[in-house]
Amino acid sequence: MTTHVTVIGLGAMGSTMAEMFLKAGHQVTVWNRTPGKAGALVALGAHEASSPAEAGELLVISQLDYQAMYDSLGDVDLQGKVLFNLSSDAPSILREASDWVAARGGVLVTGGIMVPPPGIGQPGAYTFYSGPSEVVTRHTETLKAISDVTYVGADPGLAMVFYQSQLFMFWSGLTAYMYASALAESAGVAPSQLLPFAQETFGGIAGEGPMGFLKYLTAEFEERSYPGEANSLHMQAVGMGHVVHVQGGGDRRHAARRAEEPVRPRRRGGSRGRGPGHHHRVHQEALTT
Ligand code: NDP
Repeated sequence: MTTHVTVIGLGAMGSTMAEMFLKAGHQVTVWNRTPGKAGALVALGAHEASSPAEAGELLVISQLDYQAMYDSLGDVDLQGKVLFNLSSDAPSILREASDWVAARGGVLVTGGIMVPPPGIGQPGAYTFYSGPSEVVTRHTETLKAISDVTYVGADPGLAMVFYQSQLFMFWSGLTAYMYASALAESAGVAPSQLLPFAQETFGGIAGEGPMGFLKYLTAEFEERSYPGEANSLHMQAVGMGHVVHVQGGGDRRHAARRAEEPVRPRRRGGSRGRGPGHHHRVHQEALTT
């Protein structure tokens, strides 16, 4: 079925969304704050509106944030319009925006799209949607032109709660990989040598096998019970201290000291020189670097 879709915002995301709606056979109107970005879309059959007031009943918005929606649609009559806003912002901002649209006679559905521009409209792409479920259901077929539809609940903040949770894992995971590669490279291990083990670790954490920590933690979160029998916090803290020691340059300093001072032979029956005092120093170093 052909639907009239108005795409507001022609940045990297919005322009690709408009292209996918056109390719799916929909009638597409586009508008962007700065003119001159619609040329390729007009060539594919889009109509470039001179004002957002020309929008049809169904709007798909992809702008920097929700302030952009207020700036763009502040003077537009939203009576009878359905707005799917796929811009990022904080959950509380989305809830306020839902009330703002409702006060103007429209309906807001919030969305968090989980792919970069080249993934839009491709298999595996999905978007978290929140807001009135019947409105999402009514427009699901049209929305499928850009991604699968994953409805997460009526609270308009939820789309961003899920989106931000995913981003948090994405950024933290990639940052961890950057640090891990740097650590390995500092000892002459090429990133490509580390890669298969990194894949094993990330895949394992997410999987069902013995490294499936997401599954273990989820059960612990839901039970509010953290026995830590197989992995005590103390053991993890000591291990983390070692990593921080290396990242903070402590390992290089230690190696430099060893180069200056010859290794002292172990005294018979005496301390190995790596007792609790060693861990204490590592922790101190971790805290001060
Ligand atoms: P871009 O920076 O490419 O585009 C931003 C768009 O917002 C432009 O159309 C810009 O208009 C418009 N805009 C910004 N401020 C205003 C304003 N005050 N009033 C009117 N229009 C405004 O961003 P993207 O397309 O990459 O991202 C769009 C949204 O999608 C963001 O919220 C982003 O977080 C989210 N997102 C992005 C992904 C990505 O990989 N790029 C992935 C998933 C989500 P103008 O041309 O006039 O500046």
